[in-house]
Formats: sequence, C-alpha cells, structure tokens
Amino acid sequence: MTATEPTVQTGEPMHRQLWFRVLAGLVLGGFVGTLMGPDLGLMDQGIALQIGEWLALPGRLFLTLLKFIVIPLVISSVMLGICDGNDIRAIRTLGSGLVYFVITTTIAIIIGFTITGLIQPGSQIDSSQLGAVVRPDIVAPNVGGGSIPSTIVSAIPTNLVEHMVKSDMLQVVIAAVIFGLALLKMPNIEGRPIVDLMRSTQQVCMTIVMWLMKFAPVVVFGLIANTVITMGFGAISAVSLFFLTVILGLLAMIAVYMFLVSVVGGRNPVTFIRDCRDVMVLAFSTSSSSATMPVTLRTVEEVHKIRPTVGRLVIPLGTTINMDGTAIYQAIAALFIAQAYGIDLTTFQMVSIIVLSIAGSIGTPGIPSAGIPILAAILESQNIPVEGIALILGVDRLLDMSRTVINVVGDMTAAAVLDRLFGHKMEGDAAPDNPA
Ligand code: ASP
Repeated sequence: MTATEPTVQTGEPMHRQLWFRVLAGLVLGGFVGTLMGPDLGLMDQGIALQIGEWLALPGRLFLTLLKFIVIPLVISSVMLGICDGNDIRAIRTLGSGLVYFVITTTIAIIIGFTITGLIQPGSQIDSSQLGAVVRPDIVAPNVGGGSIPSTIVSAIPTNLVEHMVKSDMLQVVIAAVIFGLALLKMPNIEGRPIVDLMRSTQQVCMTIVMWLMKFAPVVVFGLIANTVITMGFGAISAVSLFFLTVILGLLAMIAVYMFLVSVVGGRNPVTFIRDCRDVMVLAFSTSSSSATMPVTLRTVEEVHKIRPTVGRLVIPLGTTINMDGTAIYQAIAALFIAQAYGIDLTTFQMVSIIVLSIAGSIGTPGIPSAGIPILAAILESQNIPVEGIALILGVDRLLDMSRTVINVVGDMTAAAVLDRLFGHKMEGDAAPDNPA
C-alpha cells in the first residue's frame, strides 16, 4: 500500500468506505455522549466524565501524532510547492493567495455583520443582569496596538528551530518560502540533496497520515462522545439565538464557497463539498485546523486532484492565515455583545472590527479556542466590555468545532479556485484532470 491511496474509496460497499465510518463515528459519539451526559441525568457525572476521558484517549493520541508531523509537513510541502514550479509561478500563487484570503475573510465578516444585524440576537439579553457578569480570565493579545512596521518585522523568522519548537506557524511558513525561493535560484546539482530530502520528508509524513486515518472513525467517536459528556447541550438554550446566528453565518459562507468553486473553480460544488467530508468531520471533532492540515493536504492532492504546486503552497499558508469561520464568529460575537450591552457601534468601529478581525485571523493559531483571546482583544480595542465573552463561553466549544470546519473548507476552496486560475499555466507540473 502506498501513501497515495485515495481517501474516498470508490467501488467498495458504503459501510466500508472511510467517510461513512467517520460519519457513523460522529453520530454514534453524539448518541453515546447524550446518554451519558448531564442533560438526561441517567448516570453519575463523576463516572461519566472518567469514562469520557478514556473514550477521548484515541483522539488525543491521534491529535498528538498529527501535530508531531505538522511542522516537517509544512516545511517540506511549502518548499516543494515552490521548487516544483518556478519563481514567477510561486510568487504569483503566494501573492494571489494572500489577496484571495483577504477578500474571502472580508466577505465572511460582512456576512457576520449582516446576519447579526437582521437577527439581533443580543437584543434578547436582559441588559439589567449584565452588571453581574464576571470578567473571564482571558489575556487579550495586542492585535491593533503594535506599529505596522514592527508587526511586519516580527513575522519574519529569526531562529527557525525556536519557531519550530514554539509552533510559530507564520514564521515557519515564511522561512520555508524563503528557502524554497533560494533553492529555485541555485544550480540544480547543489540544491538537489535538499529537494530530495524534502520529497522524502513529505512522503514519510503522508504515509503517517494514511496510517492515522484508518483510526479516524474511533477517534471521532471518542472525541465527540467526550465533548457531549463534558459540555451537554444545556448551555445552548441560554444563548440559542446567538448560536443560531453563528450557524446561519457559517452556512452562508459554505454557500459562498460553493459559488466560488463552481463559478471560478469550474467544479461541481456538490461533488466538491462531498469530497471534503472526511476533512470536515475531522475538523469538527478536533476543533483544530492545524492538526487537520495533513489530512486537508492529502485530500486536496489525492481526492480533489489539485496540482501539487498549488495545493502545497495554499493549504499550509491558508491553515496559518485564512480563517473565515473564525472571522465570522468574531464579527457576530462582537456585535452580539455590543447589542447585549446596548452599545450602538459607529461605522468607524465596524470598519475597525473588520480590519482587526482580518489581522486577528492571520495571527490566530489553528488550535481549539484560539479565536477567543483575539475576540477579547477586538472587544477591548472598541471599548466593548470584554466580560461579555462570559455570555458565549458556554457554547464556544460547539461553535469552535463548527467554525473550524469552515476554516478548512475555506482553505480547500482557495486551493481549487487558485488551481483553476493559475494551475494550468504551470507546465511541467503533473496536471491531473479536473474531476468536476
Ligand atoms: N479552532 C479554530 C481553528 O483551529 C481557531 C479558532 O477559531 O479558535 O481553525
């Protein structure tokens, strides 16, 4: 068996296909979690929590192993994505990727604002009781306060090993881009050993992903069961309208992706989303686009058949800086909290939230709940009470799982769109047929 075995096995009975088993794990996990969770009260919660921890064990091991290969996979993929093309193409893909990400993130935030303006979820909150809300223990990073030149300098890698150790993904991606471009400029004979090493590294990582994916159904089952046991569904009812607003915003973004995939990407959008299902379920269960990245890359290359020179650049870059789901969530949450406190935001504040959310989504690491400190920073910068976050913390986990799905689908959509726009110009690249 090779590392290039497809994720979606056709020709096999449905119950043996990976996507079906992963989805079955999700449903079964939700069911078992509900039976043991706090909502039905059928079981002693102390025992249920202990069982939940054991159920989540395969998932925690799985995630640890995925994280273990993320850094070598990002470095090798980005370097190969550049080396396998040429410098003009690499710069064009990177440049258009950045522009594309800013555009879709802005669309995401505007969707968030529009839906929140229409539904007004915050107006349902009894503002007389908000005085009692205790400020959650969240340290808000400084998203808007540092000067732009010093922010740019801090994104440039200084000590690669230190950035790898700290999982500073932005600096790691930029370091790989610089190395990749330098390799392109070197004589073939001198650069070859590093390129070969990177090719082997990428193959090793993908082989490990293939092994891990065999356990995905059990992993998803355990993670979902444990989440439901720990959280229950009770928290949703208190802020159900906010919950609904976020879910509608995320669904609207899926519609935008399907439009882009069909009109710009030239693909069948239904087939495209269907082929994303393993990645979506994994992102939902793990709440981490970074941990899902190896599987996202594998799906983009092997199932969507996107050219490696595009996929290997766009997916690591997108995982690091493109978070449309997080941006929608931050826009809705900021407006919801402002509404709850009866604060009318000015147009200037709205524009500031858009700019800060874009900057924030670049800096947000793809890990669970990473969006919350960024939200705190956005609120603080606009004089919206940060303690308002306490209102939504109860549902954050479930919404984190949902926004992570949008984050990864956004990256895969970007790869499909940029592949269509620029991929065909990359002669010499293995150009698989567009499967639309
Ligand atoms: N969990 C999200 C992700 O990994 C980030 C966030 O919004 O908290 O993409």
